[in-house]
Amino acid sequence: RYPNLLEPLDLGFTRLRNRTLMGSMHTGLEEAKNGFQRLAAFYAERARGGAGLIVTGGIAPNVEGGVFQHAAKMTTEEESDRHRIITEAVHEADGKICMQILHAGRYAYSPELVAPSAIQAPINPFKPKELDEAGIEKQIQDYVDCAALAQRAGYDGVEIMGSEGYFINQFIVSHTNHRTDRWGGSYENRIRLPLEIVRRVRERVGENFILIYRLSMLDLIEDGSTWDEVVHLAKEIEKAGATIINTGIGWHEARVPTIATSVPRGAFTKVTARLKGEVSIPLVTTNRINMPDVAEKILADGDADMVSMARPFLADADLVLKAAEDRADEINTCIGCNQACLDHTFSGKLTSCLVNPRACHETELTYVKTANPKAIAVVGAGPAGLAFATVAAERGHKVTLFDAGSEIGGQFNVAKLIPGKEEFYETLRYFRVMLDKHGVDVRLNTRVSADDLKAGGFDEVILATGVKPRTPDIEGIDHPKVIGYLDALLERKPVGRKVAVIGAGGIGFDVSEFIVHKGESAALDTGHFMREWGVDLSVEHRGGIQGVTPEVPEPAREVYLLQRKASKVGKNLGKTTGWIHRTSLKNRQVQMVPGVTYRKIDDEGLHVTITPKGAEQGEDRVLAVDTIIVCAGQEPLRELQADLESAGLPVHLIGGSDVAAELDAKRAINQGSRLAAEL
Ligand code: SF4
Repeated sequence: RYPNLLEPLDLGFTRLRNRTLMGSMHTGLEEAKNGFQRLAAFYAERARGGAGLIVTGGIAPNVEGGVFQHAAKMTTEEESDRHRIITEAVHEADGKICMQILHAGRYAYSPELVAPSAIQAPINPFKPKELDEAGIEKQIQDYVDCAALAQRAGYDGVEIMGSEGYFINQFIVSHTNHRTDRWGGSYENRIRLPLEIVRRVRERVGENFILIYRLSMLDLIEDGSTWDEVVHLAKEIEKAGATIINTGIGWHEARVPTIATSVPRGAFTKVTARLKGEVSIPLVTTNRINMPDVAEKILADGDADMVSMARPFLADADLVLKAAEDRADEINTCIGCNQACLDHTFSGKLTSCLVNPRACHETELTYVKTANPKAIAVVGAGPAGLAFATVAAERGHKVTLFDAGSEIGGQFNVAKLIPGKEEFYETLRYFRVMLDKHGVDVRLNTRVSADDLKAGGFDEVILATGVKPRTPDIEGIDHPKVIGYLDALLERKPVGRKVAVIGAGGIGFDVSEFIVHKGESAALDTGHFMREWGVDLSVEHRGGIQGVTPEVPEPAREVYLLQRKASKVGKNLGKTTGWIHRTSLKNRQVQMVPGVTYRKIDDEGLHVTITPKGAEQGEDRVLAVDTIIVCAGQEPLRELQADLESAGLPVHLIGGSDVAAELDAKRAINQGSRLAAEL
């Protein structure tokens, strides 16, 4: 079914078994205790699952290049030896693996940072020191030594990270390179650094070693590279000795979403396609390629020679294997949420995956066949119940899953309706297929009672009954203008032109997105998405954005998004995606108001007092709205618990019925899976 994706790629001195590249991801294991052992298990599982070529998370070539203080580096033979366990495990699994050499330059979150010029990044509190000639020479030498040490550790190659706004990228563009010596000024001078690095690394490692150069195709910042410059660099990189060119889209400081779930699948691939024919070495394309059919189409269209998928390999280690065995419907699809991967990385936690909590936890979370099969009832087919039921059944337990609704999914059925969150359909498909595959007895439209469960002969009962929305205590809350978020989203109750949303947590944001959008979601239409974020895919504009004015569609409604807390609205949204949600609503003129006290609701509207942060006194206002949507948190549903426990049945609470404070699919799936692994 996927002839292009599964076709081997001959690199002359070596052969890749298919066209998938598992892109570089920092996991946090690089610096953790026993981390290398765990990394070996993590990568070996992906190699067994068929990844064509794996690239590790970034390893610094020296102390100053580390993304943060004490980040993993490879500067000595001792450090190189620690990697052997990884390369051996991957080779044993018939895989191939390259080590990424990552120098953060001005993005390094440490006081020792260096850069071409002393210009601070907007996303870093530290200001870099400008390198002198000897300093630059040292950096190049460190790359070369690092590559040689990676070769010594048994890697099949290295990837030199030249995109995403890191050190090398900072030399290439005038935005961050204000030098006037031979390393700055003209474009020839600014690309001297990457070319020297590639040339000298190739000289040192010899011909039979994969050298991937990751090249920034679209910087998505002001004063980024022009397309002619990108093409020129690619040609020179090939001449300097690279084996493969991988592509990068957008600097970390760019204000355009590039990998979030609201980015259409394969949205940036046509940019890579423009480089085809300009160089003769294989080109890898990337960003939001999450399923084999997306990858196959890109390759069949001739847009690239390989596809890079990073997060999809967190979500499912066996992605390629499943495609090859015509089991793509069993793939646990990466939904682009970033919640357990990048959000973790940027808050110093170990990487994992919302839909697959085993990711980066392969050695401690295992789903082994049980020697003691039990009859288990699961009440509630939301994320927690689904995770539990599928894992427990996979382990050999006899699982019956009850839900009062007519379909599985619980809160996922709400999430999938939000523009930009369509990927949740895939998670539901995955669970549906897994329930079937592992023989879970699914009883929908069944509101099960404690008596039913007691009489059912179950050894254990799992309560995953979820939550019910909380009704805040506001005078007039039963006014006809007031509806709940489920009324607005699932029941499609009429919503007026002017709306107040009470509560600005994740659900308040989702509801606001839902009601301000009209027409097709931009996540399903690349042209629409690019227009909205002001990106020029025809690459006529410098950096892909310079001089392009975003065109945001007219909002469908006038919306106030309100919260009690005086802090910034949306402060607790995902670390790497919160800004996207805030910007999207701001662009649609949603008024986000913190510090709100709700006084009453009547025919006039919603009466509030607004007290800005630090102010002693608030201002009374009446928001003359037609509809008020309540998103003020939820309460756990655990009605069955006491009755079952008093009958002596072992009961476990998971998901929202355990902790309902903020709906959290990541916690729900993790908790359900872990409990199922233990029982
Ligand atoms: Fe994909 Fe979300 Fe998993 Fe990250 S946490 S790999 S974005 S599904």
